[in-house]
Amino acid sequence: MKIAIIGAGAMGCLYGAKLSEVPSNEVILIDVWKEHIDAVNEKGVTMEENGELLHYTNLKGVTDAKLAGPCDLAIVFVKSTLTGTAVRENKAVFGPGTIALTLQNGLGNIDLIRAEIGDGAVLAGTTAHGATMLGPGRMRHAGSGRTIIGELDGKRTERLETIAKIFRDAGLETELSDNVLGLVWDKLLVNVGINALTGITKLPNGELLNHPEIEELLEAAVREAHAIAKAKGIKLGYEDPVRHTKDVCRATAANRSSMLQDILNRRQTEIDMINGAIVREGAAAGIDTPVNRALTNLIKFLQKA
Ligand code: NAD
Repeated sequence: MKIAIIGAGAMGCLYGAKLSEVPSNEVILIDVWKEHIDAVNEKGVTMEENGELLHYTNLKGVTDAKLAGPCDLAIVFVKSTLTGTAVRENKAVFGPGTIALTLQNGLGNIDLIRAEIGDGAVLAGTTAHGATMLGPGRMRHAGSGRTIIGELDGKRTERLETIAKIFRDAGLETELSDNVLGLVWDKLLVNVGINALTGITKLPNGELLNHPEIEELLEAAVREAHAIAKAKGIKLGYEDPVRHTKDVCRATAANRSSMLQDILNRRQTEIDMINGAIVREGAAAGIDTPVNRALTNLIKFLQKA
């Protein structure tokens, strides 16, 4: 299978490198970061995994999607605020039969991709892997977990099974879901509770629960988002998303969320597609979201700095 990775940062390199190990796959990493793409073409991708250094050389990188040409599968792994732009700029990888897959965090990726390439060719899912970029051509696989993918209408199609198989062949534990929107919202609710608050307080995930004044905000932010999910008829995987978010805080107690890392590294965050998305969805549904609005504004203020 010819596979393009649009956005070959930490997660894009992880999936691209693993998929490149299957001899029948041709993997092309696409990124605007020229120094990184040059390093990939010179030395491949170097991955730190469980204290070992792994080298992946059976893949190439391009900054211009025209050099890749139409692919069978395009996995979108830019930050969610850049999804629309990145798919538009890299349209050359999309031919009549190309399937796009988003495993990104945040709300809106599916619609942004559909708006660019049309309905019917988009699959979505979630990933429980963790990865960090270390430098051009170098990244760390920080934690392993399941990849869950599905068709937007919940059907179990041949193309879905085919992609699951190539993921499994690459050693990526993969499951299929008939409720992929529910999965995206499950993860969104957790991110709504954890990401902005860690970015503002600079606390690791577990510490949020050690401060009652912060824990109260976590609960309120998730409750607002839950009310919107209910109003939209989203079928969540957890009866009590507040409790689930707290469980995730405890299970990942020492982690610094991606938003905290973005704030510390002076990068743009995904706030507009997480708490900001809840504010937009709330406005559309007539549901007040004052806590999510406050968290969004505070992160935007920090981003400006
Ligand atoms: P990242 O910042 O490491 O990588 C994104 C890459 O996209 C960068 O290398 C950037 O140069 C590239 N890019 C930006 N604009 C582009 C364009 N127009 N065309 C091509 N490339 C472009 O981000 P990441 O940590 O890999 O995260 C990607 C997505 O996966 C996010 O939605 C994130 O929330 C989600 N996610 C990340 C993790 C993690 O542990 N890192 C875990 C789960 C989900």
